This record gives sequence, structure tokens and C-alpha cells, in this order.
Amino acid sequence: MSCGTTGKRPSVDAGKEIYVFKTIGVIGAGQMGHGIAHVSALAGAQVRLLDTAESALDDAMERIADYMAKQAARGQIDKSEIDPALGRIVTGTDYAMLYDCDMVIESATESEVVKREILKTAIQNMLPDAYLSTNTSSISITRLAANTDRPERFCGCHFMNPVPAMPLVELIRGLATTDATFEKFKEFTEALGKTVAVSEDFPGFIVNRILLPMINEAIYTLYEGVGSVSAIDTAMKLGTRHPKGPLELADFIGLDTCLAILSVLHGDLADAKYRPCPLLVKYVEAGWLGVKTGRGFYDYAGDTPRPTR
Ligand code: NAD
Repeated sequence: MSCGTTGKRPSVDAGKEIYVFKTIGVIGAGQMGHGIAHVSALAGAQVRLLDTAESALDDAMERIADYMAKQAARGQIDKSEIDPALGRIVTGTDYAMLYDCDMVIESATESEVVKREILKTAIQNMLPDAYLSTNTSSISITRLAANTDRPERFCGCHFMNPVPAMPLVELIRGLATTDATFEKFKEFTEALGKTVAVSEDFPGFIVNRILLPMINEAIYTLYEGVGSVSAIDTAMKLGTRHPKGPLELADFIGLDTCLAILSVLHGDLADAKYRPCPLLVKYVEAGWLGVKTGRGFYDYAGDTPRPTR
């Protein structure tokens, strides 16, 4: 049995010492939060999935169930695992549900203000010795950890999208993260069948330090009229063997998230080469955030995505 592309997820039934963290809180039920809940529940953890929006929680459960059904159809999991895994996920909007979590991971909107507020509220509702994490794509782990009462038990855990399919997790120590905490998170991510890449705590870590400038350059290429949306994506797919074109990928990540990451790179590294393309800013201002809002560089209203430029 396998999970996603790794084929390494251990069977839940193989032993009862199933999980590093037995009860996990996930804050933010968007495309990443629901994916983290998905893989954690399949691996045997009890999951508390929290969001401010009830609709996000309903969507999350629907998407998790749909994706698990697809995994079963592909032979990646056994059909009999689905109902018990779904039964391990409890959703809600009340932070009190974090009371018995061994670990809480924050995966809400990529904004330092939002994340600081979430972490402040979370620690007031958590066990004093529980671990804390963030799935931020770019924001300083040291800064977020320093804002809590447990920087030594805090570790950055950057999953990739879609979580059940992508084999990588970047682990990032904050300045105060202890070796024991780091090892615990390494064990956790490996128990999910993921491969760990260790990154130092610099803006965007490894993946987004490299990926987002490429996506930004693709948007500048569109902005300057060098190529159309389909020309740019076709060029990069067929010319460099990328599975998705950069504009298609930007839509998939979420243009708000892309802009937020570029703003962190630009602000924290203070280098003009990371300046977000004005066209990206305009799309976000228009609420054209990509797949999640039905329109970005492509229009997702029909059966096949249609380029918008
Ligand atoms: P998303 O827009 O799909 O979901 C964000 C969710 O956070 C929404 O459901 C929203 O209701 C919720 N939220 C906002 N404020 C909240 C609050 N105060 N309390 C609780 N919930 C709140 O975003 P996403 O793509 O899931 O990104 C989430 C995090 O994961 C971000 O930090 C992002 O940088 C990171 N990330 C994203 C990707 C990606 O490809 N999109 C990949 C890796 C990591």
C-alpha cells in the first residue's frame, strides 16, 4: 500500500504504536490544512481541524473524502481505511478543541499578522508541553516562534501541494528549536512517508526561494508581452520538462499566496530582484486568485481551463 508518490506510508494496522503525535491540531482548513489533516488521519492520528469559516471546514471534509476515494481507486490505500480515517477528523471553529493535542500546526493564510494572532490564541488553549509548528511558505520561523511561550518546542514544517501526493517536507529550525524537537518533527514527517529536506531559516526557505522568482519572472514575461499565457506555459512544459507551466502552477498555489511569499522575499532580503510583478498585484487586487476563486491566469469555469491573456 502506498500514499501519493512515495509508497512509504506505513499501514495503520501494522502496529498500534502508530504515530509520533497521537492528536494533532491543524489550524486553517484551506488547500494545505485539509491536506495535512488528510495524511495525518490516514496515518492514524486523531485530528482537530480548525478554521474561522464553517464553509472551509465543510469543503475540507468533502475534498478529503473525494481524494481518499481516488487514492483507493488507484490502489494507493485500501478502501477499508477511508471511514476510520475520516472518523478521526473532528472539525470546528473553537480553539478549545486543541486542549489535548500533542502538536498543533498552523496552516492559515500566508500573513504574519494572521499567523501571530493564531499562535497567540492557540498557546492559550494548548497543553504546556505540546509542540507547535507552522506550514508557512516564507515567514521567519524564529520570529513566529519568539511570539509564543515555547520557541524551543517550535519547528517549521513546510508541506508541498497537494499534500497527499507530494513526497517532500521542508523542516526548518528556529533559532531556539531544540535538537529533540527537531528530531520529533523529523520522525513525524517520515511517519507520513515524506522525505525531509532541511532548510535554514531564511525567507522562502529552499523551495520558494528558487520557485517564486521563476514564477514572478514568468508573470513579468507575460506583463511585458514576450508571450501569451499558453505560450509561456507551453514553452516551460515542453522546453524544460516542467510538469506544470509556471502560470498554471501560480494559479494552483494561489496568487495571493504567491504575492505574499514574494513580498516576504522582497522585504526580508531587501533585494529588488524579488519585486512582485505589478500584474500579479493587480490580479490579487481583483480577487483573481487562481483555481481557488475560479479565475487567475486561466478561467476555470468550463471543463478545460482557458487562458485569460
Ligand atoms: P488557503 O487560502 O487555501 O487557505 C487558508 C485558510 O486559512 C482558509 O480556509 C481561511 O479561512 C483560513 N484562515 C484564515 N485566517 C484564519 C484564522 N485567523 N484562523 C483560522 N483559519 C484562518 O491557503 P493555503 O494554500 O492552504 O495556504 C495555507 C498556508 O500554507 C500558508 O501559510 C501558505 O503559505 C502555506 N503553503 C501553501 C502552499 C500552496 O501551494 N498553496 C504550499 C505550501 C505551503
